[in-house]
Amino acid sequence: MTATYHSTRSREGTVSAKRAILEGLAGDGGLYVTDELNKHPLNLEALVEARRSGGYLATAQMVLEALLDDYSPDEIGACVREAYQDTFASPEVTPVVGVGNSWILELFRGPTSAFKDVALQMLPRLMSRAAENTHERILVLTATSGDTGKAALDGFADVKGVGICVFYPEGGTSQIQRLQMVTQKGRNVAVAAVRGNFDDAQSAVKRIFGDVPLRKRLTSRDILLSSANSINIGRLAPQVVYYFDAYAQLVIQGAIQPGDQLDFCVPTGNFGDVLAGYYAQRMGLKVHKLIVASNANKVLTEFLTTGVYDRNRPFFRTISPSMDILVSSNLERLLYYESGGDCELVRFCMDALGAEGRYEVPPALLERIRKSFACGSAHDDQARTAIRTLFEEHNYLADPHTAVAWHVSEQVEHQDGVARVVLATASPYKFCRDVCEALELKVAGDDFACMRALEAAQAKTGAPASAPKAPKALAALENTPVRFNEVLEASDMAAYVERKSGEIL
Ligand SMILES: *Cc1c(COP(=O)(O)O)cnc(C)c1O
Repeated sequence: MTATYHSTRSREGTVSAKRAILEGLAGDGGLYVTDELNKHPLNLEALVEARRSGGYLATAQMVLEALLDDYSPDEIGACVREAYQDTFASPEVTPVVGVGNSWILELFRGPTSAFKDVALQMLPRLMSRAAENTHERILVLTATSGDTGKAALDGFADVKGVGICVFYPEGGTSQIQRLQMVTQKGRNVAVAAVRGNFDDAQSAVKRIFGDVPLRKRLTSRDILLSSANSINIGRLAPQVVYYFDAYAQLVIQGAIQPGDQLDFCVPTGNFGDVLAGYYAQRMGLKVHKLIVASNANKVLTEFLTTGVYDRNRPFFRTISPSMDILVSSNLERLLYYESGGDCELVRFCMDALGAEGRYEVPPALLERIRKSFACGSAHDDQARTAIRTLFEEHNYLADPHTAVAWHVSEQVEHQDGVARVVLATASPYKFCRDVCEALELKVAGDDFACMRALEAAQAKTGAPASAPKAPKALAALENTPVRFNEVLEASDMAAYVERKSGEIL
């Protein structure tokens, strides 16, 4: 297929995949999409055969070649090897394990123990190759509430032609998440705490993107500002891979027959992960239902039930913080595809969202969406109960985000003959304190004390051989020197970026 990309809000000005990855967002504020997704379905038999001999890397090669076809097969091959060979703590990269009457797809075996590694180990390699034939160097700016910042730092560390600045809210992350970031190695990285909450840091980053004089000064030094946000197709494409790979693993294990349908239940925030499953469906994977699982911030559950998207509601801080989101940016791409590519409708909805915080889709469009999607939500107590049930009945230690998906999966009917895959998005050891509380383990001490308590609890039950201990990189944080101590006012961030651009690029 020839995958040219254009904005969800207009067909004018098509760009190549490489340019779309460098720019991140289209000029009119829309998201880049391609109209080729369902034109040439992937050959599933060939995919399973390739996977049998070549593992996850072979699946990644096939899927990424189809989606990003202005990269040569050799370029894709090099990116795939750099991103996934020996960087994940499982030979399967994203292993599928049987739990109860379902399967859990473990996406958290990467270097920072969250599923964002799958995309953020790949995005920097794609960006750096896209920039090769330009004179530009890329400066990535990211505000984070925890997982994205560390995954981006690890992915971009020492990548040629790219530098990265990460900002996190002072006191707004878990102890482990903060230590993961402030101990980051690499000469092209910078990390700072910002006084205020996540939204303050995020707004300040947006202001820097809109700071024309600053951008001009950077452009005169051939520096392009970019972001590692999940609206970038360079983040979305690598996530399509594990849906196909889960199918191939299940066929190879003999758990399903070739051509069988699958359900996927996905813990959702920004709608990136589950949208990748929708892309896989359009590209030929036999997906029965995509189940959108939300926490108490259930704006998507309501949208998929009523057709009304309304962000005017209380915001809840939950034990699954990476899903505490009221504006699910990637939903815009679903509206584009399911409306048959109606850019005007998308623009109308997004303008209404900007102006009033609300839009409503026509009933026919909602009906089409509901053919592929089911939904549900879990509040914190339900997630805690799921953690306890998974541990006590199945010896499976789940993190709070995965627990939300497990709870929702149990609420949605399993159709006979359709295998159910629940996506696990973080290591339980990243959220030790909340997992300990859910298991009613009393721990005196810091997050590392909780980590040891969880390891002891797992050892006692004869834990699954795949996850007997805390990931080494997390345990080692207790004794890793801190590199970044700076705490900034939000108003000082632009000056920090300019100063660091000289040091790290
Ligand atoms: C980011 C994240 C999610 C949500 O993924 P989206 O692509 O934003 O829907 C879920 N779980 C964890 C652990 C995450 O880090």
